[in-house]
Amino acid sequence: MLHGIKGQLTLKPQQKQLVAQSIGNARFVWNQFLAMWNARYQNNALLPTLTEYDLNNLLPTLKKEYAFLKETDSTSLQQVSNELAQSFKNFFQNRSHFKHPTFKSKQHARQSYTSKNVNNSIRLDGNYLRLPKLGWVQFRSGQPITGKIKRATITRTAAGTYECSLLVDDESQVVTHKTHQTVGIDMGVSDLMVLSTGDKIKTIRFHEQLAPKRLYWEQRAARRARKAKENGVALSAAKNYQRAKEQRARIFQKEKNQRQDRLHKLTTRLVREYDIIVLEDLQTANLMKNHQLARSIAAQSWREIRRMLAYKCAKYGKELIVVNPYKTSQICSSCGFDDGKHALDVREWECPSCHVHHDRDINAAKNILSIGLGQALVKSA
Ligand SMILES: [Zn+2]
Repeated sequence: MLHGIKGQLTLKPQQKQLVAQSIGNARFVWNQFLAMWNARYQNNALLPTLTEYDLNNLLPTLKKEYAFLKETDSTSLQQVSNELAQSFKNFFQNRSHFKHPTFKSKQHARQSYTSKNVNNSIRLDGNYLRLPKLGWVQFRSGQPITGKIKRATITRTAAGTYECSLLVDDESQVVTHKTHQTVGIDMGVSDLMVLSTGDKIKTIRFHEQLAPKRLYWEQRAARRARKAKENGVALSAAKNYQRAKEQRARIFQKEKNQRQDRLHKLTTRLVREYDIIVLEDLQTANLMKNHQLARSIAAQSWREIRRMLAYKCAKYGKELIVVNPYKTSQICSSCGFDDGKHALDVREWECPSCHVHHDRDINAAKNILSIGLGQALVKSA
């Protein structure tokens, strides 16, 4: 099974330069190939489209003409052929969904290149990652990595930090003992998750914790942009402004890392503790009326939780079941009585039939679990 693992790289100045060169070269090759592709089409629209193979065959000629291309790992340039051919393929197959490939700009906030693992050219040793041309680099990901590394994408973020995401093919299933426990999960905004066991996992509002710092740098960036304008300095040349912008981006990055870290810990815990995990389908999950930002962040976290649970369940030999949460907040999980729709502000209710007192979310989580277990039975029957 393929999955991505992201981590932070700590680079020496010389390595940073090499990364900048590699990013620049990948962009250069992309733009060269794209210009050629466009020109070819304009000259004769009937010519067959180029393939990844055709593009790769052009690389040696390009390298002869532009010697600086030899300074980067050649697989990262082959990867450009692959990506450009794929972008065109997507575009030709589905024009309403995919845009025509465009030229890449140096100004784009996120800059990256991708190297393929050939003959163990990319490998891990403890906290160090070996990358083509760069050599050994300190790498922190916060999670154990097993399996075969297929590719590494090195990114310089808007915050000026360096990230690497590894595409890993992990066939190995980690042997964890079965716990014979099952759990249903109701996802929400103020409580991120409510479990059928009665556990409630609060949402941590990382964006609020970091808000004062973010505001500080936002105001500084705005003031410095104004100053630069008054002095007739272009923003791209205004060093002070650029620094403030980078600081602001660093805070966003930190917020993202904190959230990601927490979701990793939560999902790993769930997969260790339960053999079957049942989630509601997010497409149909009824969203509570809530602050817009909090809600969109929650929705992002739910998608991330589902993605993490899917690959961790596969990895640990556990089962993830996704169900349609139909009527889960109105049916009594004790006796099955349908109490009709409850208004959103009804957090607790008593079943008129069996008189059990319910917490709305715990009851929903219990219903999600029983729908899931029902589906599991149907599947195994
Ligand atoms: Zn009841």
